[in-house]
Amino acid sequence: MRIFVPKEVYPGEARVAISPGGVSKLIKLRAEVEVEKGIGAGINWTDEDYETAGARLSTDRTQSLKEAELILRVRKPPIEEAGDLRAAAIHVSLLDPFNDEKLVRRLAERQVTAISMEMIPRVTVSQPMDVLSSQANLVGYEAVILAAAGINRILPMMTTAAGTIKPLRMFVIGVGVAGLQAIATGRRLGAWVEAFDTRPVVEDQVKSLGAKFVKLDLGETGETAGGYAKPLTPEQLQKQRELMAEHVALADIVITAAQVFGRKAPVIITSEMVRRMRPGSVVVDTAMETGGNVEGGIRDQEVNLNGVKIIGFSNLAGRVAGHASEMYSNNLCAFVQFFWNKETKTFGLDLNHEILKSCVVTHGGQIVNETIKKAYGAT
Ligand code: NAD
Repeated sequence: MRIFVPKEVYPGEARVAISPGGVSKLIKLRAEVEVEKGIGAGINWTDEDYETAGARLSTDRTQSLKEAELILRVRKPPIEEAGDLRAAAIHVSLLDPFNDEKLVRRLAERQVTAISMEMIPRVTVSQPMDVLSSQANLVGYEAVILAAAGINRILPMMTTAAGTIKPLRMFVIGVGVAGLQAIATGRRLGAWVEAFDTRPVVEDQVKSLGAKFVKLDLGETGETAGGYAKPLTPEQLQKQRELMAEHVALADIVITAAQVFGRKAPVIITSEMVRRMRPGSVVVDTAMETGGNVEGGIRDQEVNLNGVKIIGFSNLAGRVAGHASEMYSNNLCAFVQFFWNKETKTFGLDLNHEILKSCVVTHGGQIVNETIKKAYGAT
């Protein structure tokens, strides 16, 4: 099977889908692997590394896209490249299917089998393929590093002859994978941390990291069978903002990481709440790619509101692109290895398999994914 890994062309994307080590794994499966020349240059993976691992270098992206049977990349393809893919090609990437119906319809029209890595179900066997978790972990870490670098104080307590410094107060809102890593990183740096999530089950996880869980009575909340948060009603969200306002006002650093799968992120911090914070405090909103948790935050910018910094950089994992790529590559390889048919030496597209049922979005000229069909309002 011919595998092609093109360079990322999504604006600002520094991650690379497959590492040289990943190429070795694919070559062991007896796949033919081609990568676009210069693919790893931005993160110091040289063409030579890829060639040594067994990949061919492509200098003609369009031709390679046309010939490939399996395409691996980080981001969704630009819509104009859909026309370059051959019918029955399998395209594996983050696809953003909830927000890009036009692209999904185009891929279906081109008879491409488009696989969305963010739709892989969170079952035990798929953990090594879980790109949402691998990248969210880095997001949580990077958010705290940005906050620490953006505040003119230090996080840990220090007792010195020149006086005692109190630990900074950090409030983490949304304790999924990113939020948990933010708590762990904040604690490692010595901050005093408290956190809130609408899923009460995370309380023990928060406590196990040495942070305090903030209890807010919002009525019925809970989670879906897949472990994701259920969306709050507008009334519950309003109540959450009111009950949280004091915790936000007292914090030196606020990290927001609240998401509801497949939907726009909830706005949980209003400008009014930011105005109540002490000047010099920092808010890092990790949910910018899905619309943001903080009113007044601007995507990819640092905003100053009454002396409070709101950092709204999207793609935080891409800021640590070396490790992000290494982990993403491991996830992709685990996915390909799992479904590889050793006899035919091709990707075994068993559409009845629990994992593929969830993440194959288009196939055979149609949108085949039930969740996505429902999201588009199709019958
Ligand atoms: P996510 O990115 O979808 O959401 C982040 C967090 O935001 C969630 O914890 C959610 O409850 C929270 N949230 C939503 N609305 C909120 C609000 N209004 N206020 C505060 N918080 C709000 O979630 P995720 O990081 O992808 O993880 C979801 C869950 O799945 C986690 O519990 C994670 O541990 C679990 N998980 C399980 C597996 C597995 O079993 N294989 C793998 C990965 C993650």
